[in-house]
Amino acid sequence: MRILLVEDEPQVVEFLKKGLNEKGYETEVAYDGHMGERLALKGDFGLIILDVILPNINGYELCKRIREKGIQVPVLMLTALGTTDDKVSGFDAGADDYLVKPFEFAELLARIKALTKRSSGLIQTSKVLIVADLTLDLNKKSATRRDKRIELTGKEFELLEFLMNNIGRVLSRVEIAEKVWDITFDTGTNVVDVYISILRKKIDRDFEEKLIQTKFGLGYYIDEP
Ligand code: CA
Repeated sequence: MRILLVEDEPQVVEFLKKGLNEKGYETEVAYDGHMGERLALKGDFGLIILDVILPNINGYELCKRIREKGIQVPVLMLTALGTTDDKVSGFDAGADDYLVKPFEFAELLARIKALTKRSSGLIQTSKVLIVADLTLDLNKKSATRRDKRIELTGKEFELLEFLMNNIGRVLSRVEIAEKVWDITFDTGTNVVDVYISILRKKIDRDFEEKLIQTKFGLGYYIDEP
């Protein structure tokens, strides 16, 4: 089984890698949140061990992001923060278990076994977002309106997914740029407006009922007509 290790402290990484490899687990390491997200989204891991305090994207946010993409791999949070609030944040973000540093390696192994046993019996549930007659299948990465299949590029898909995950909520350009493009908004770019207009062409143009809405001066949202 392959384990993704997202941890920025080299000593902890070495300790975990060595111990896990000895127990027959293959490991891949990400030293920051961005790299962790990229590797996690490839989705070929049996387990993710995730530190909370990381450069770029923290562990809670990273966990949330991969869950939003429909990735169901068990996540074990590993952190020096051990208050009840921290644990609740971890579980809210979609973590399956929580281990507070410092910990015994044997304890980690026991948690790994429990988590991977649980997940092997798990049936991958389909994740589908629906707004009116528009359907977005997150597993198949496909979009359809009524019976018409809509071809979307990666970023168009992500933007539509973000809108559909927040049905009825006005999303500012800043929020959208950060979420979909991972960029802090620069007033010189109109990337969000450009992509919204592309989505409108693909989703709304051929239909009388328009789903993507503009809230003037505030942003965009999707809703049932
Ligand atoms: Ca850390």
